Amino acid sequence: MIIKSADFTVSNTRISKLPPPILPEYAFIGRSNVGKSSLINMIVNVKGLAKTSQKPGKTQLINHFLINKEWYIVDLPGYGYAKSSKSNRAEWAKFIRFYLEKRESLQVVFVLIDSRLEPQKIDIEFCCSLGEKGIPFYLLFTKADKQGAVKSQQNMAQFKKELSEFFEEVPQMILTSAENQLGKDDVLALIHEINGN
Ligand code: GDP
Repeated sequence: MIIKSADFTVSNTRISKLPPPILPEYAFIGRSNVGKSSLINMIVNVKGLAKTSQKPGKTQLINHFLINKEWYIVDLPGYGYAKSSKSNRAEWAKFIRFYLEKRESLQVVFVLIDSRLEPQKIDIEFCCSLGEKGIPFYLLFTKADKQGAVKSQQNMAQFKKELSEFFEEVPQMILTSAENQLGKDDVLALIHEINGN
């Protein structure tokens, strides 16, 4: 798929202010600092569209980016930032849960995982919560350029193994790097396939 346009549409903290659920939406989520903004910018080929975070965990916004005037990338707030307050985390959970469970136009969720790390409990739990709710998701492993291919593959295999205790079929995994565009075509091909155009 060729990206012809990528436009920031709206940024908000209120479900009531989301755009009408008319166009397909693809949500991106992960731990703070996992590389979500960088990956979104790499996929759509626009530097600075999604704001890379200076202060992880600060923004609790849902950002909509309209792609090719046909579908949305939805940038969800990062989870698991230790320094955000308890009430902040509870607000986050409520807001995101509502979006993930109720948004009719949501097609799939891309869960971002840092490929440098061994499986983290918070990521496994988040995947399980999506599974329990029947929300379809794919796993995008980020920052592949930061270590050797073998290490990334080991961490991915371990993640798959841990998830397979909870899932009959572990969702597809894609290794990515915002630095060298790794995974870009695979992610766009998936979206293209789901969009059916
Ligand atoms: P977010 O908080 O999940 O949106 O993460 P950011 O996109 O702001 O990235 C967090 C940090 O990781 C920034 O310093 C990025 O430059 C860096 N980063 C993100 N993706 C990559 C990547 O693929 N490779 C490398 N080397 N650094 C990355």
